Amino acid sequence: MEKLLVFGHKSPDTDSIASSIAMAFLQTKLGKTAVPYRLGNVSKETEFALDYFKVGAPELLEKLDEGSSVILVDHNEPAQSADGVEKSNIKMVVDHHRISGFNTSDPLYYYAEPVGCTSTILYKLFKSHSIDIPSYIAGLMLSAIISDTLLFKSPTCTTEDKVIAENLAKIAGVDIEKYGLALLKAGTDLSGFTAEELVNLDAKQVTLQDKVKAKISQVNTADIDEVMVRKPEIEAALLKEKDSLGLDLVFFLITDIINSNSQVITFGNNELVEKSYSVKVENNTAFLPGVVSRKKQVIPVLTANVD
Ligand code: MN
Ligand code: MN
Repeated sequence: MEKLLVFGHKSPDTDSIASSIAMAFLQTKLGKTAVPYRLGNVSKETEFALDYFKVGAPELLEKLDEGSSVILVDHNEPAQSADGVEKSNIKMVVDHHRISGFNTSDPLYYYAEPVGCTSTILYKLFKSHSIDIPSYIAGLMLSAIISDTLLFKSPTCTTEDKVIAENLAKIAGVDIEKYGLALLKAGTDLSGFTAEELVNLDAKQVTLQDKVKAKISQVNTADIDEVMVRKPEIEAALLKEKDSLGLDLVFFLITDIINSNSQVITFGNNELVEKSYSVKVENNTAFLPGVVSRKKQVIPVLTANVD
């Protein structure tokens, strides 16, 4: 039987890992041969969730063979996907991001909803197929929703994400607030990462309006100052990225998950950053009050301000 490879985006977050595992499980239940993969190292936050629910991390996808059958979760843009995805056979996409640069030669299933998390959409797919969600999968899906919505505080969070998270918490047998805070806190442990690793923990490369080639990275913290003490080495790592990838903008967001604000360290098109947020970038940095979501408060805002 044809094997389906299921994977999320590069620099995988908890949603990309959880949704790959959940989707491969769903497909297996539907009689298909499906295997989850990851496109990079799992984060400490994801590791916490995998350990908590006693699940192994998916295998690393080393190479995508031409003509492989794949299911994409939590992304669609080729730049964020496995190298060679253009030459694969994309059977299905389940995603909650903008659609950009995405083309297929064959018809496919495409489930897209502007909700806070891919796992929210997946929950509804389980329901529509009348497949029960085992508690460990529910736990991972819940973790994905908590992670993507910053425990329901992100502007990307919808009522549906919240209701479905509550259902998943019941199946998984965890207290959302208690488990959620522990999960997010695990993700703020940035010790042991080099500056190069920090700027790539959660990074997305996007081209804004076909003009501005940007890399937008984000780390979560409970204390912005704790990350800012490493500013010089982070700056060096960002400049290196900018040069080696030929980027017009590198934008590194340090997000305070307790108070829901961010500090940005940025190089390149800083006029765009200043115009987008009505701030002054000084010493390559600016404080962005209330900004926590790359998807809702960074990518569209920068895009709208490209001349
Ligand atoms: Mn994601
Ligand atoms: Mn997601």
